[in-house]
Amino acid sequence: MDTQLDLGGLPVDTSAPVLVTGATGYVAGWIVKGLLDAGATVHAAVRDPGSAPKVQHLLDAAASSPGTLRLFASDLLREGSYAEAMRGCRIVLHTASPFVRTVKDPQRDLVDPAVRGTRNVLGTANEVSGVERVVLTSSIAAMIGDAEDTLRIPGRTVTEESWNTTSSLTREPYSYSKTLAEREAWRLAEAQDRWRLVTVNPGLVIGPALNTAPTSESFTIVRQLASGRMRFGAPRVALAVVDVREVAYAHLAAAFLPDAQGRRHLVVAESTDIVDLGRRLLPAYGSRFALPRRGLPKPLAVALAPAAGLARDYLRRNIGFPLRTTTTKSREALGVRYRPAQHSMDDMVEQLVRSGTLREGRFRKWAAAERRGALVP
Ligand code: NAP
Repeated sequence: MDTQLDLGGLPVDTSAPVLVTGATGYVAGWIVKGLLDAGATVHAAVRDPGSAPKVQHLLDAAASSPGTLRLFASDLLREGSYAEAMRGCRIVLHTASPFVRTVKDPQRDLVDPAVRGTRNVLGTANEVSGVERVVLTSSIAAMIGDAEDTLRIPGRTVTEESWNTTSSLTREPYSYSKTLAEREAWRLAEAQDRWRLVTVNPGLVIGPALNTAPTSESFTIVRQLASGRMRFGAPRVALAVVDVREVAYAHLAAAFLPDAQGRRHLVVAESTDIVDLGRRLLPAYGSRFALPRRGLPKPLAVALAPAAGLARDYLRRNIGFPLRTTTTKSREALGVRYRPAQHSMDDMVEQLVRSGTLREGRFRKWAAAERRGALVP
């Protein structure tokens, strides 16, 4: 497993600190590590700098690199709380945003932190005179709501021109939060002319985490695959996936390459589906976890959806529609080289097994915990 981020000669500017918001996160962990390994000073904005489980991997990465890490206490919903962390920075990498699909109150738990948080961070960039570039972690979710929406876009292919027009507070609220946040970011960027905005729009991120107890929704899919609940078949929900190391690289390329400005970058390695992703784990893990081996016919998957904790409408809209994407811009403008999803999945599960997060032979217990809504990490 790669534990270094291959920066392939990116011109990382180490003469000024770089701000990373949401530095405790899955994606941000690799961004911070890449910066530290390149010798940069990272201003890591986190909610709780005193929480060892959240920041220990960042401290470890700093200890074994030429770079310097400084932690700052910031919250998306606390106005002005990124000002101190941003002081002296030319580059702001804004990754912080909740990535969970199941919440009690979508406005409070997803939209407010995503949109008000973006306003907070980018508003602070307006006040801190040295900021030259802001890289926003957006998502393919800001480009397309459900896989069936591809029927209504030119060439049936998601591109940097695509915008999600179907999500709402009641339908895919996470996607809605990302769409509103990115639109707000472009509005703020266009209202001034000092700093430039670049967005990175990844598909579902897969691959190993540096933090030992990752909370990102990315891990829910792997937990579901390994839980045994899908051992008789899984819904073939369309997915576009990308390795976390390529996503981190794309952020750093967007930050430091001169011609990466003013653009959205769709970052996807492969279009696939849940069953196919599970199948890739069979050679290495098929005897240890009750992985799905086949797809359920769509009508059956839709009928069984509530038992699997899924909404029927969601499956209707996301099974049977290939999620085609184009990634020419990310390859040409950012120089992203995508590894096969097979490698990402192997590395991801290997790391989860090694850290004790996924345990062999425990899928029944997992399944029971999931049914109670008490998914154990
Ligand atoms: P993650 O590990 O859960 O990271 C989310 C980060 O946001 C955490 O650092 C979290 O801080 C921070 N955050 C949440 N609410 C906050 C608040 N009110 N104030 C300050 N920080 C807050 O998830 P991730 O997958 O790395 O996601 C990172 C970014 O990538 C998000 O913008 C997400 O939308 C985007 N993205 C992810 C994927 C994917 O498949 N993973 C795909 C496309 C885009 P705490 O640690 O304190 O909770």
